[in-house]
Amino acid sequence: MWTSASRKLLAFVAGLSLMEGVWAVPIEPRENQKKCRKTTVVVLGGGMAGITAAQALANQSITDFLIVEYNGEIGGRMKHTNFGKKKDGSPFVVELGANWVQGLGTKGGPENPIWTMAKKYKVANEYSNYSSILTLIDDYETAYAEVEQYAGVILKENLQDTSMRAGLALKDFKPQKNMAAQARGFNALAKGMASTFLKPNDSRLLLNSIVTDIAYDKDSVTISLNDGSCISAAYAICTFSLGVLQNDEVSFTPKLPDWKQTAIAEFQMGTYTKVFLQFNETFWDLDTQFFLYASPTTRGYYPVWQSLSTAGFLPGSNIIFATVVERESYRIEAQDDEVTKAEALAVLREMFPDKHIPEPIDFFYPRWTKVPWAHGSYSNWPVGTTLEGHQNLRSNVGRLYFAGEHCSAEYFGFLQGAYFEGQEAGMRIAGMLGKKCKNMEGGCGEYKRYEALHGTTRFAEFSPLNGWDVSSFYVAGK
Ligand SMILES: Cc1cc2nc3c(=O)[nH]c(=O)nc-3n(C[C@H](O)[C@H](O)[C@H](O)COP(=O)(O)OP(=O)(O)OC[C@H]3O[C@@H](n4cnc5c(N)ncnc54)[C@H](O)[C@@H]3O)c2cc1C
Repeated sequence: MWTSASRKLLAFVAGLSLMEGVWAVPIEPRENQKKCRKTTVVVLGGGMAGITAAQALANQSITDFLIVEYNGEIGGRMKHTNFGKKKDGSPFVVELGANWVQGLGTKGGPENPIWTMAKKYKVANEYSNYSSILTLIDDYETAYAEVEQYAGVILKENLQDTSMRAGLALKDFKPQKNMAAQARGFNALAKGMASTFLKPNDSRLLLNSIVTDIAYDKDSVTISLNDGSCISAAYAICTFSLGVLQNDEVSFTPKLPDWKQTAIAEFQMGTYTKVFLQFNETFWDLDTQFFLYASPTTRGYYPVWQSLSTAGFLPGSNIIFATVVERESYRIEAQDDEVTKAEALAVLREMFPDKHIPEPIDFFYPRWTKVPWAHGSYSNWPVGTTLEGHQNLRSNVGRLYFAGEHCSAEYFGFLQGAYFEGQEAGMRIAGMLGKKCKNMEGGCGEYKRYEALHGTTRFAEFSPLNGWDVSSFYVAGK
């Protein structure tokens, strides 16, 4: 089996033999080389993008595919865990990753497909009630509207790009939150979708299977797994997160071309952490969903708290969670649970000075940047990144295609971004395999890519060819 380690060893030994002129390169006898399992399309990753990619193939009667997934279930960053205790001793279930449908759709326009599926697969959901932070949201919307106008001017006049944070700061708005509806059991969406084309215990879904190397050329793809087995396919769709690609969790043979490596290195992976606490009572107001805390000294220090004890969520659970992002996320990820727990409790005691706040009976937070199958929460568009640069993140390299939320120019970071990009990669490959290509606007077959990048994005480049659809349904904050 050609693991990346054995390839490296062989290359090293071969290099030595050239230098010394004495060592023979050991060639594995053909009969010892393992036969790879064969399939037409191998989908790498069983998150939202992987499932929509496989669904798009199945919809075009391409049933000879395999889905390879690191974890013991599908859903990817739609991830939950048991937490705390109910009265009967059984645990509650909390979502560690995605659990909000961000942007349901605009009136009269297309609906967010994630919202459509949440309804279809009856994923319990609840609208967020912002009354506790409404003033803030009003301020945000006013500032956002003005920044959005300016973004149009930047685009039309090809001015230098600026960040949304900088734009909002200029409008005197500093916080950054944008939420829509709250739901739980989110990976039920992926499972519901998968049930439309996979049978129970379908042998085409390989769970607990870790990809270590992806070898590609213009005719085929060979995937090496950590158990020593391999899969050879006509096409592959890699839906691993940007964090996985940036952290070299998987090797590529040959190395990805420079234009692809640059795109991977330049786009950003952000982090977002939910810190869960369960108490033996709900000492906060039961009717309030959100509480804000503004640290007098540290920006982003446990700023948003959400009650899960409130009706519509996990009533009676006595669970509250804090959300921290970016710099603060990295900081708490690096420290012990006990230190973070003490900080969070001190904040709560400041927020509710008249209450006696005991030690929590349970405490947990995930460390997303350290998860080897994610390395972060979701991608962010760095200032100055052009649509051409981003398009290279989407583009295929030979028979190796890419999808995932980071590949979406319009909805990067969101589930709907993963949904659309998985679907598009699946449809393009269906087209390559001689099936009907339904991806009319974005084009069929190989993705457009740019070997040389321009400094800015020209107006004409905002087109489906670069992953930018003419009509978008998403309206921030709605
Ligand atoms: C804390 C948090 C909160 C979020 N909140 C929201 C939200 O409210 N709303 C929203 O729309 N989005 C939210 N997101 C983002 C959303 O979860 C992602 O955009 C979406 O799930 C990405 O789907 P994907 O298929 O692109 O990638 P993933 O879900 O990462 O799927 C990729 C799959 O590849 C697998 N994989 C990785 N490496 C390997 C390997 N070596 N071998 C085999 N398999 C591998 C992974 O296990 C994973 O299942 C949140 C994310 C986080 C982390």
